[in-house]
Amino acid sequence: MKDAKQDTVIAHAGRDPHGNFGIVNPPVYHASTVLFPTLEALEASDRAPFDGVNYGRIGTPTSAAFETAVAEVEGGYRAVTAASGLAAIATALSAFTKAGDHILISDSAYGPTRRFCNEVMARYGVETQYYDPRIGAGIATLIRPETTVVYLESPGSLTFEVQDVPAIAAAAKAAGATVLMDNTWATPLYFKPFEYGVDVSIHAATKYLVGHADAMLGLLVCNEASFLPVKRTAVRFGTCAGPDDLYLGLRGLRTLSVRLKRHHETGLALAQWLAGRPEVRRVIHPARPDHPDHALWRRDFSGASGLFAALLRPVPKSALAAMLDGMELFGLGYSWGGFESLLLPVHPAASRTATAWAESGPLLRVHAGLEDPDDLIRDLERGFARLAAAN
Ligand SMILES: *Cc1c(COP(=O)(O)O)cnc(C)c1O
Repeated sequence: MKDAKQDTVIAHAGRDPHGNFGIVNPPVYHASTVLFPTLEALEASDRAPFDGVNYGRIGTPTSAAFETAVAEVEGGYRAVTAASGLAAIATALSAFTKAGDHILISDSAYGPTRRFCNEVMARYGVETQYYDPRIGAGIATLIRPETTVVYLESPGSLTFEVQDVPAIAAAAKAAGATVLMDNTWATPLYFKPFEYGVDVSIHAATKYLVGHADAMLGLLVCNEASFLPVKRTAVRFGTCAGPDDLYLGLRGLRTLSVRLKRHHETGLALAQWLAGRPEVRRVIHPARPDHPDHALWRRDFSGASGLFAALLRPVPKSALAAMLDGMELFGLGYSWGGFESLLLPVHPAASRTATAWAESGPLLRVHAGLEDPDDLIRDLERGFARLAAAN
């Protein structure tokens, strides 16, 4: 349907039941070798190596189904999939850089993104400069003739700064740089990067798209100009995703909007409760009016996911351990976007160079899962009681 709304698109995009016995979901193709009926067909495929199905690594009907669906939902031209979010980030950065280039990366970018730039891009002669995520149009003063990429992540990892994406993208475009953005937090539903000047929207589909903490998957949604450079680079690196993981991504997409709505509501409920606690100095959640970038979030986003942070008043590590070690519902672990709630102590000061993180208390990253919020609050309340008893 041409004018279908987003929730309708996520239910129907990338499917062709009547091309497959009427079965609702597309089959999972496990493929390496693809056979050609004739020499002519083989040679025709060689002339269009990035289209159609010619070798398992380059694309199958399973990857095409997922890529078509997410590109349609996010408003991109076409998408490319990778084995993890980080593989997608590495592919995107490699696609638009060469020795001698300068790239601008938000200081609040995901830690492993920084390490890829500092350790790998640097070895290939690409210079990384980190910028204050709140720089806005001021990014223009950092752009040099050799700047080829401006990289955004909004809200930022761990500290949740919301970036002025259209202002940064406009300055980058005026200087001829490619605009890459990690849009994992908002998912293709809650922020529409292509409406704000982004060229490639990168996702750790591992998080909310898969949504059940059971697969690694990366995604690059591209506008028309960036698709071929990204696809070619992915093919040169041998980047691809496993068929079962692609299927889990596609299946997760179908329920993304109902899950996110709940993550949003529960996240705000937990943030509100935490903000009223004496142990908490402040909560950092872009959808709360007390967030310093709340106006930007309201201007550009249509919802919030379930990930935010709470800054605690300073306590000894043993008191924090007493709280975290005894949690019944909140897991202690990396990643997020699955159905369960998580807590993680995080340390932004260790991964900042353009800006400072000067807060002294522990920073807890909270992932609000799909459990009943009253039970989650009870778990936190008992956690604070253990923290107080051990303090
Ligand atoms: C987890 C994460 C990634 C990396 O995704 P993986 O699938 O774990 O490689 C990238 N960006 C952000 C913001 C993330 O949280």
